[in-house]
Amino acid sequence: MKKILFVTSEVYPLIKTGGLADVSNSLPKALAQTGQDVKLVLPNYHALKICAPVLERSTFKIGTHTVRLLETMLPESDVCIWLVDCPEYFDISGNPYVDYAGNAYSNNAERFTLFCRAAIEIAMNRVGLDWKADVVHCHDWQTGLIPALLSLEYQCPPTVFTIHNLAYQGIFNGLMAATLQLPGQLLTPDGLEFHGMISFIKGGIAYADKITTVSPTYAQDIQTAELGYGLEGLLVYRNQDLIGIINGIDDDWNPHSDPLIAKNYTADTLIDKKENKKALQAHLNLPIDENVLLIGLISRLVEQKGIDMILGCLPEMVTYPIQFVVLGSGDKGFEKQLHEFACAYPHKLSLTLGYDESLAHLIEAGVDVFLMPSRFEPCGLNQMYSQRYGTLPIVRHTGGLADTVVDTLPSTIENRTATGFVFNEASEGALLETIKRAAILYSFPDSWHQIQVNAMGRDFSWKSSAEQYINVYSTL
Ligand code: ADP
Repeated sequence: MKKILFVTSEVYPLIKTGGLADVSNSLPKALAQTGQDVKLVLPNYHALKICAPVLERSTFKIGTHTVRLLETMLPESDVCIWLVDCPEYFDISGNPYVDYAGNAYSNNAERFTLFCRAAIEIAMNRVGLDWKADVVHCHDWQTGLIPALLSLEYQCPPTVFTIHNLAYQGIFNGLMAATLQLPGQLLTPDGLEFHGMISFIKGGIAYADKITTVSPTYAQDIQTAELGYGLEGLLVYRNQDLIGIINGIDDDWNPHSDPLIAKNYTADTLIDKKENKKALQAHLNLPIDENVLLIGLISRLVEQKGIDMILGCLPEMVTYPIQFVVLGSGDKGFEKQLHEFACAYPHKLSLTLGYDESLAHLIEAGVDVFLMPSRFEPCGLNQMYSQRYGTLPIVRHTGGLADTVVDTLPSTIENRTATGFVFNEASEGALLETIKRAAILYSFPDSWHQIQVNAMGRDFSWKSSAEQYINVYSTL
């Protein structure tokens, strides 16, 4: 049994902006189920949705700031969360990182430096809790200073740093080093310095004992100039300590028990999936037709997700016998173009702008294929949800998509491993060809059914991911 301090800037259901929050909910629970002693550390944002009682555990100083450490529980678990309460930095009502206009808070460097220093005090057993970490597991740039600063401590616990998305790095003006009181020995080109600036994520990558990222292929991708954001050299240098572990998915996403879908089903009762298709078509005012190929997309509408490629395909797609349902929000330009298509082809394209968890479940259950043509994808969740729902994903061969979807080829049909459709080139032509390939196969119901069964049989559980993390901890 290890004492694991799991330091993160967001945890579902308390606060979520992206996949990190889901991992920070599921992985600690899965680790705890194997007998590990896991404690989460999270800033005490004003916007937290807390359902359990909150206790006050400790008060300590970080520089001139007084920090209170509060304790609550992660819902539906025995995992305890320690909240770093520093109102002058975290008592904000909205998003943890950006203001209402989408601009990063001007004091983010100070805010997350304080958070990192508080986590170090906890890890080193200096806040009167009689608990010293055996491992400190840090996530993304907001925690990147922890491995760097801990490396200067006497008898410090080992660190693991997980990269959930290298596109977000926490880069700040070099002059901030003095304000943040960062020790000079960390401010070198092989430390925090990055082209005259300070990079928080580099602190994690340069100083952590082990680095993980959320899929094996993304671990390779970030070692290339294309997806390394200037850190590819350091990542290649550290590649003996860099491991890709695919995220699991939650049991909330299970067509057998999902309360948010029209009719539950399993691989043995796939006929009932059609009830969800009808319900979805009815809900979205699309013509009810069980034979038309129904394509789904649930996504942040941003370039990373290949939305521009999809827009490029739409003029031709609408000439096919298909329907297309889109749920998402993001880039205003993409939203506008999708809206124009939806108005021009109301029987073909349904667009729901915004975030809608219930509709997301009904889409996964109701559509036949799911589009995920991402330009890069550290792990991705929807392609795994889709497979569990017998919805065949169309994905680009990148990151976690490459690791979780098996392309439909004569050989993979034959050996029953095919679970979806994979293409390589990030181009409209390649995407359109793959959509056509799926449409042709859809007219062979027996083959389609077999691929659905293959997909539904895949193990995307957190249990197997948690075991891989425990292996990493055990090497430290
Ligand atoms: P990312 O974290 O890059 O946005 P992921 O596929 O890893 O992409 O995770 C996205 C998660 O957010 C999925 O669970 C997806 O279903 C959900 N999601 C994204 N947009 C919406 C939306 N508009 N409504 C409901 N759920 C959404």
